[in-house]
Amino acid sequence: MVLLDLGRRINAAVNDLTRPGSSLDEKAFEVMVKEICNALMEADVNIKLVSNLRKSIKKTVNFEDMASGTNKKRLIQKAVFDELVKLVDPHAEPFKPKKGRPNVIMFVGLQGAGKTTTCTKLARWYNARGFRSCLVCADTFRAGAFDQLKQNATKAKIPYYGSLTQTDPVQVAREGVEKFKKERFDIIIVDTSGRHRQEQDLFDEMVQIQNAVEPDETIMVLDASIGQSAESQARAFKDAAHFGAIIITKTDGAASGGGAISAVAATHTPIVFIGTGEHMLDLERFAPQPFISKLLGMGDMAGLVEHVQSLKLDHQGTMQHLAEGVWTIRDLRDQLSNIMKMGPLSKVASMIPGLSNMMGGMEDEEGTAKLKRMIFICDAMTEKELDSDGKLFIDQPTRMTRVARGSGTSVREVEDTLTQHRMMAKMAKRMKGDLANMQRNQGAM
Ligand code: GDP
Repeated sequence: MVLLDLGRRINAAVNDLTRPGSSLDEKAFEVMVKEICNALMEADVNIKLVSNLRKSIKKTVNFEDMASGTNKKRLIQKAVFDELVKLVDPHAEPFKPKKGRPNVIMFVGLQGAGKTTTCTKLARWYNARGFRSCLVCADTFRAGAFDQLKQNATKAKIPYYGSLTQTDPVQVAREGVEKFKKERFDIIIVDTSGRHRQEQDLFDEMVQIQNAVEPDETIMVLDASIGQSAESQARAFKDAAHFGAIIITKTDGAASGGGAISAVAATHTPIVFIGTGEHMLDLERFAPQPFISKLLGMGDMAGLVEHVQSLKLDHQGTMQHLAEGVWTIRDLRDQLSNIMKMGPLSKVASMIPGLSNMMGGMEDEEGTAKLKRMIFICDAMTEKELDSDGKLFIDQPTRMTRVARGSGTSVREVEDTLTQHRMMAKMAKRMKGDLANMQRNQGAM
């Protein structure tokens, strides 16, 4: 997973410094900042960005001026968090499509970046949220591009337009967009061709298609695995086609991913989604704060809730509870069962606070086995215990032993499950307001 190592290293550096008993002085703080900067540079983040981050953290955490009562630990954690958020937040609002009118979205990017795959994922994403979406294949350059789009679109039940005989991509794009506008589609996504390299031909073609279809948004698709060259590539595309949003693909791969993040800063363009696999559902909304929370193992509950909603799984009771800031052990159990239905475990686990740390480095198979044991533990509880906030287990070793025996696990595992539940309950309390906001904002990009 992109940036996973980076997240672990930064976390370890901050935890080392802020662990109870460790000396929290200026020297130790310098060591932490240095380690964070090294980790960022090794993940391909641009050196200038790293240097700015170093300066900002040091400015915020000023040991000399710090009042004696200041909670240094929290101050340092917050400074690191805020600076990492700044790295991925260009403070530019992406375009928000509106229902009831055609919104034309054009994709640009090099060949192999993931455009064709991602445009179908995005059309499906909007479809699941009540937008009528469709696809136009203006990639007449790559043999087989239209076939690929057709196959993906058919699988996802998305209407598409393309031509096997027309060789002029501008013509195809114009015809497709006009057709779907007449048919009153909400979202019309135009896939364009890429080249192996940035070439003038490609840029000329992009501009011609842009002029022909007048997109409301142009999205650049960037492959996370291309490292430092992401930055110059994004700059070149920005100069030519002036895109307003970025989608980073293949974030599930082993790439370090910092190059793609540097591209955001270099072009002042927001990332709107990230591709997290080859499957149609492997597309996640991107927002700076939840992304950094997830990176640092703090979870992304809002993302999880959204993911669960889009899959239309059974979560009504849990949603009601979350809106009230309540999280019972039964909620944990139900969501663990849902997670098993949600695809590769490592991906979903990263959305739950603390769970990815707990499963750190585990293969999906091993992680699934662990989750199953957690479900067995919940199943061995009484109804009263399941509907509780877990406090009735405090200082009750016999209760825990009974559950461990009933589930064929150990007391230690029961304790771990309850700890996990407590963390999520805290998070649920905190997100009570966020959830109401999220529900209000739903439907908009
Ligand atoms: P295009 O040339 O830009 O249209 O790229 P494609 O859509 O054909 O994608 C190139 C390859 O990348 C295909 O094999 C896709 O399955 C793969 N791909 C696209 N997005 C992702 C992703 O998020 N994760 C992974 N693992 N593979 C992806």
